[in-house]
Amino acid sequence: MDAQLELLVDPDLDRPPAVEVVRSARRRRTISAERVGDRIVVHVPARMSRTEEAEWVARMVRRVLAGERRRHRGDDDLLARALTLSGRYLGGRAAPASVRWVDNQQQRWGSCTPADRTIRLSRRLATMPGYVVDYVLLHELAHLIEPGHGAAFTALMAGYEELARAEGFLDGATHAARGASPAA
Ligand SMILES: [Zn+2]
Repeated sequence: MDAQLELLVDPDLDRPPAVEVVRSARRRRTISAERVGDRIVVHVPARMSRTEEAEWVARMVRRVLAGERRRHRGDDDLLARALTLSGRYLGGRAAPASVRWVDNQQQRWGSCTPADRTIRLSRRLATMPGYVVDYVLLHELAHLIEPGHGAAFTALMAGYEELARAEGFLDGATHAARGASPAA
């Protein structure tokens, strides 16, 4: 297995990503690409000709970058949605700097860091009804104003029409995720 580092020029990018090509004798037919930090690593079969390799590497890098651009657009939508909710329910007082979907949040539906005004939503929410996503988003936005869950926080959330319905939905989802076992 030998690895080489090369640069690939993409006119859409300010800074082209470093591309690492790994030729592996064990990989007969499989071609794959993955993002590893600031690099894109492309695995190709060792038998592939240099011309074929160049074509495949370019194609796989474009695919990874296109996926990343799609995800970033999703995050832009989320930020716009957060700003709308803040305007409607919080008098625009919550001003997040960024709102992102994340894959590594299995225990929580959402989280926020008031210090840098960032909000993260678990991607598990992405398939749930819009009023549930809005509820979690509003909950995290309210935390940018009020860190605790006391009376002040409850008052911030009070204007949301689907409050009880969304809480019921998430209770059910949490119960199902834990595996419904009969109460003792
Ligand atoms: Zn909370």
